[in-house]
Amino acid sequence: MPSPAAWQPEVPCARCGTHVTGIGWGELCPACRGKVVARARRVSRWIALGATVLTALYIWWRMPMNLPLSRFYGGIAVLATYVIVRRIATVVATEYFK
Ligand SMILES: [Zn+2]
Repeated sequence: MPSPAAWQPEVPCARCGTHVTGIGWGELCPACRGKVVARARRVSRWIALGATVLTALYIWWRMPMNLPLSRFYGGIAVLATYVIVRRIATVVATEYFK
């Protein structure tokens, strides 16, 4: 007889109702979870692109470009904006679409 820790019941997916072992109550099955993450990534890409364009416009408008490394730092700021906003938006959108 397996130990209680190894015994995993078949739990219905919170979205499609398919019985799957290895997920908790109220969680999504791997197929539904993949769809949610794919949709969240698609949405977060556009959110991050919008934020990046706004940041680039702000830097182009406000930063003095006659300094030696100002273009370099401006580029780093734009790149960092895309990466950070994309990560945050992906997490938030995944929770939202769940
Ligand atoms: Zn499902």
